[in-house]
Amino acid sequence: PGSGLVIMAATNRPEILDRALLRAGRFDRQVLVDRPDVRGREAILKVHARKVQLGPDIELAVVARRTPGMVGADLANVVNEAALASVRRGAQVIAMADFEEAIDRLQLGLKKEGRVMNEEEKRRVAVHEAGHALVALSVEHSDPVHRVTIIPRSIGSLGATLQLPTEERFLMTNHELHDRLCVMLAGRSAEEVACGAPSTGAEDDLERATMLARQMVCRFGMSDALGPLAWRRSDSLRFLQGPLESAHRDYSEETARTIDAEAKRIVDEAHRRATEIIRDRRETLDAVAKELLLHETLERKELEELVRGQSGKQRAVAGRA
Ligand code: ZN
Repeated sequence: PGSGLVIMAATNRPEILDRALLRAGRFDRQVLVDRPDVRGREAILKVHARKVQLGPDIELAVVARRTPGMVGADLANVVNEAALASVRRGAQVIAMADFEEAIDRLQLGLKKEGRVMNEEEKRRVAVHEAGHALVALSVEHSDPVHRVTIIPRSIGSLGATLQLPTEERFLMTNHELHDRLCVMLAGRSAEEVACGAPSTGAEDDLERATMLARQMVCRFGMSDALGPLAWRRSDSLRFLQGPLESAHRDYSEETARTIDAEAKRIVDEAHRRATEIIRDRRETLDAVAKELLLHETLERKELEELVRGQSGKQRAVAGRA
């Protein structure tokens, strides 16, 4: 400190870092580097294209649009392959057809690795994320949506709807938690309403929602059926499975069943409410999904304008669980 020395490090697995490493004075600032969206890809292509001769018909914006899911190294590859294709033709400059050939060739490999989505998957992800964003903008207590993207952060995950809390929160009311659950379930609801059926893409949402609902019941006393009691399971023996486990919790088998039923009721209610909002605002959902397919990422302002523009229709007033 004080010597003007800055230490930077990079990781693909921020979730498994030791928390002590991230304390103030250590690696205390985090910069998220996502896969580039269409605007980012165009900028990256411009950098790599400086090293080659482009023909007059080249539109890098079009190349960017055709390469969703690709990262910087892939895009460098696209430019290289296009240059090679032009050489094979005996041409002096790269033509758009060379880019087409290069993209097709590279995308085939990426598809095998599961790194690029097909059109149908892309549409589904757009619908899913539009659902989260729309419901977040519709419920009363929700952190503002900072940005929405359909560019996956890692293999097997869908896009992301990033919400920023307006202030650091220490306490949350049950109304806020019910609304938060509603937003979590909205991706699935949107898929059901607009694609006709759910997909595996909501796995993470469902896991988080289930955990939160159980906490509401067992720790926060937010279930009328179980009242303001803390229903604890002995954490030290959490790894034990099967019948042994029941010996280490402080409540009866009957209570365990009620906890399950209450958690299910709370999640079902959030799902029902999310579906209702999405049905009521279907046109807005479609409009947001369409814009997401086109631009891949929507910032808060763009999203709010889009939703406001569509809300000549009556704003859904969400009943509460
Ligand atoms: Zn989701």
